[in-house]
Amino acid sequence: MSEPFDTSRDLAFAARGSFAGVPARSLADIGDAGVVILGAPFDWGTSYRAGARFGPKAIREADYLGFDGYRPHLNTGIDSLGTLDVIDAGDVLVIPGAVEESLDRIATSVETIAASGAVPIVLGGDHTITYANATGVARVAGFGNVALIHFDAHADTGETQYGQLYGHGTPMRRLIESGAVPGNRFVQIGLRGYWPDPETFAWMRDQQMRFFTMNDITDQGLSAVVDEAVQHAAAGADGVFVSVDIDVVDPGSAPGTGTPEPGGLTPRQILDTVRRLGRDLDVLGADVVEVAPPYDGPGQVTAFLANRIVLEILNGMAERHVALA
Ligand code: MN
Ligand code: MN
Repeated sequence: MSEPFDTSRDLAFAARGSFAGVPARSLADIGDAGVVILGAPFDWGTSYRAGARFGPKAIREADYLGFDGYRPHLNTGIDSLGTLDVIDAGDVLVIPGAVEESLDRIATSVETIAASGAVPIVLGGDHTITYANATGVARVAGFGNVALIHFDAHADTGETQYGQLYGHGTPMRRLIESGAVPGNRFVQIGLRGYWPDPETFAWMRDQQMRFFTMNDITDQGLSAVVDEAVQHAAAGADGVFVSVDIDVVDPGSAPGTGTPEPGGLTPRQILDTVRRLGRDLDVLGADVVEVAPPYDGPGQVTAFLANRIVLEILNGMAERHVALA
């Protein structure tokens, strides 16, 4: 394994503070942390509106509570940050414009976290980074051993993006092609709109990907869909990577994103669903991506929602941790 890269204080768009005030540490000093928050301020894989490089900073700052590293859940009383020994390793020193070099650095950083035994939770950044994030986890857990539950309006299974292999429309295809996450270990939830084309959906079916459109969710109900997703992800896999593209939520509630698509989930639905996944599955890694603050609404509603999505995943994981202890 190569050396971890230092996280950056040099990038003007990188974050300075830690998530919820948890201890800030470098990747060389993970110790026995259970969860490591990592920012990946990368948005040079976007196809339309850029701006997600400001996501990690905005997600960390969007909080009206004290930055005291203490967030007891209203329903359980469990403080996930303390229970799971959550730390924040800052933002990866990505190189603006250098796609593959930046993805390499992100993958190596995530691998370093996973190899320490901690669970990486990555704040994006555009969705290109999930190729690096899930690869980093799979390098430790084993290629083919990790399931991926993917919340998104878009399938992100494009063969190329304007002729390029890496972009926010292609990470899921790259993961399948490399074998890091085989198609039959994918579950996608929330697809809608007019992309990708039928040919790409045919390829996805050939790969045995499972996907649920918003129409499926309307017809079957979200809880039935999540039941199926949990069963499918648990079958034969060692654990799951949860990837949340904020545009799975309706742009009325999460406008701060690059490719908004009307007709998505409510904030309540995504919060409850990710908490449930943390409780029901062995989460080996997660990311929250595509938060683009330049387009956020008054009051930074998208960043505030993304902050709570991270906390609800952590809360589910903490409930599981306490139940198994
Ligand atoms: Mn996406
Ligand atoms: Mn999307």
